[in-house]
Amino acid sequence: MRVLLLGGTAEARALAAALTAEPGVHVVSSLAGRVARPRLPVGEVRVGGFGGVDGLARHLRDTAVDAVVDATHPFAVGISGNAVEACTRAAVPLLRLVRPGWADHPRSGEWEWVDDAARAARAAAAAGERVLLTSGRQTLAAFTGPLADHDVLVRVVDPVPEGEVPTGWTVLLDRGPYTLEKETALMVEHRTEVLVTKDSGGDLTRAKLDAAGALGVHVVVVRRPGAPDAPESVSDVDAAVRWTRQQRPRERRD
Ligand code: NAP
Repeated sequence: MRVLLLGGTAEARALAAALTAEPGVHVVSSLAGRVARPRLPVGEVRVGGFGGVDGLARHLRDTAVDAVVDATHPFAVGISGNAVEACTRAAVPLLRLVRPGWADHPRSGEWEWVDDAARAARAAAAAGERVLLTSGRQTLAAFTGPLADHDVLVRVVDPVPEGEVPTGWTVLLDRGPYTLEKETALMVEHRTEVLVTKDSGGDLTRAKLDAAGALGVHVVVVRRPGAPDAPESVSDVDAAVRWTRQQRPRERRD
């Protein structure tokens, strides 16, 4: 049975490893190709967009995909929407694997929750001078205006081209997982007053929230965008493995 795994997350890599060990399952992981040196899952990998809903539906047919698991990031709503539409068109079963957000964090009630990056930028600008910005490369432009004169430490995976951030900002190239010890040291050294993050969820990048809480740093959290409804959804890798075991190759479906 051929499974297309839409990836780019730690959960997707864990699922790829688990499915590779399943008898009779051939899994192909798909990455967008956004970062220069992505962490690669085990097994077969393809890289790059499909060309919208039409391209994805065509890919499902041309490569005889029997089931799709969308394990992309909770903020990657474009590809998730495309997956819902393309799988409906191609009559391929779809599962969404999405990790729980951080709303259950013991300090989540103390955080300033906002709906998008533009609001996060305004909230951060008002909350303090020294900002640790960890909300990712794609929404950086929303912060450069409101935080142009702030002391911003921006953490990204890939280098930011010259001119994309104000000259006074500091760019820190790093990627998770992060430890509480290192996150605390970073915030102490930078004398961080405000932390900006998306509600990505999961454990790999959670330590910054614990460090901010202990240090009294103001936390601005961007809420998850409304995701398109997948027919079925689970929140952990084991459940996704169980779902995959229940799927059948096309020729053996009733
Ligand atoms: P997006 O806005 O939802 O998707 C934009 C386009 O990128 C899609 O229409 C698709 O192009 C292509 N694409 C996205 N994910 C793909 C995948 N797994 N395989 C093949 N093509 C993919 O996505 P995004 O927010 O830019 O995120 C891109 C990738 O980075 C995702 O796979 C996600 O899991 C990972 N990621 C995202 C974030 C985040 O904060 N957004 C954080 C960590 C990791 P076509 O229309 O041409 O098919």
